[in-house]
Amino acid sequence: MANVESFDLDHTKVKAPYVRLAGTKQTPRGDTISKYDLRLLQPNAGAIEPAAIHTLEHLLAGYLRDHIENVIDVSPMGCRTGMYMAVIGEPDEQGILRGFEAALRDTAAHDRPIPGVSELECGNYQDHNLSAARQHAADALAGGLKVQATVLLKR
Ligand SMILES: [Zn+2]
Repeated sequence: MANVESFDLDHTKVKAPYVRLAGTKQTPRGDTISKYDLRLLQPNAGAIEPAAIHTLEHLLAGYLRDHIENVIDVSPMGCRTGMYMAVIGEPDEQGILRGFEAALRDTAAHDRPIPGVSELECGNYQDHNLSAARQHAADALAGGLKVQATVLLKR
């Protein structure tokens, strides 16, 4: 089976909330794609409930693009402790950190309907929790986001 970067991260050595450059990849045409780990909760110390992380996905999909250029994709982690984000190029982590903070501030303040929530637009449109999503965004901001270095597992 192919090696997967996130399985090499020592999840006991990180301190959430944080932004971490998970890896970069070169396309055949020479462009660089960077993948970031946007961690909201400390690994193995709880998880964001499915409805709330679904709403965070809908809100951060737009708000991260408002503050960070060339976003390709934002997706929830299966462990429900954060999001992955892929970006074209190699933006510096401090810029990503500021963009993530701004997107979380927008999310914590979001008091309008959740975007993309209808049977036509979403695959599970009844499974959302705006107030819990806003609270998770506020909690991450209160926790003091920082840039996290990768600590590899010693095997
Ligand atoms: Zn959805």
